[in-house]
Parts: sequence; C-alpha cells; structure tokens
Amino acid sequence: MSTDYCCVYAHSKGEECVKHDIVPRMMTVKRLKERLQDVPDDLVVIVQQDSEGNGYSPLSGCYTGAIYKPTGDWGGDVLNLSDSADSHCMTEKKWIHSKAKYPHCLVLYPTN
Ligand SMILES: [Zn+2]
Repeated sequence: MSTDYCCVYAHSKGEECVKHDIVPRMMTVKRLKERLQDVPDDLVVIVQQDSEGNGYSPLSGCYTGAIYKPTGDWGGDVLNLSDSADSHCMTEKKWIHSKAKYPHCLVLYPTN
C-alpha cells in the first residue's frame, strides 16, 4: 500500500490511518480467496445479517469500483468511484482526497 498525503497527515496527527490501521483488520479479497480455497464450488452463498446470526439471505450479487468509508467499527458508507464530488456533497478536492484515503472494495449484497 502506498503512503499518500492523506495517510501521512493521519500519522502526523496521531489519527487512526485507514490504510495502515483499519485495512489490516478487515477481510480482503486475497484473504477471502484463501478462506474459500477448500470450499466446494456447488455450495450456495448465504449472507448472514449480523455476527449473531439473527437473519440470513441468499447472496444476490456483487460489484467493485467503489471505496469504503468507515463511520465506526461496525459500519460505514460505500461511495461509487464513478460518482461526482457533487453527488457526495463534497468539494472536488475532498473527493480526490477521499478516493486516495479510503480502501477500494468489493461489495456483496443479499437478495433482501
Ligand atoms: Zn498510514
């Protein structure tokens, strides 16, 4: 992972750095592929709605081309890279910063 301005700024201010402090604790596509290596190809994929298993729904699809902006330890926002700064109510500068600061992500979504 490259160290860009946003990252350097976070470190200099003693703030939690998204790329170096948060991403290492998250599931990446690489880790997911390793985890799925020995899983049979014909299993259906079900999304559990929370860590306690209070609900389940079949996986409907997935997409990329977005960044994940955490708002806390348990949630955040996904912003599509093809969107304009305006659509996220940001200045052009802030949007460019956000695209450098937050990790690119794969989003999996349930049927409902
Ligand atoms: Zn960093």
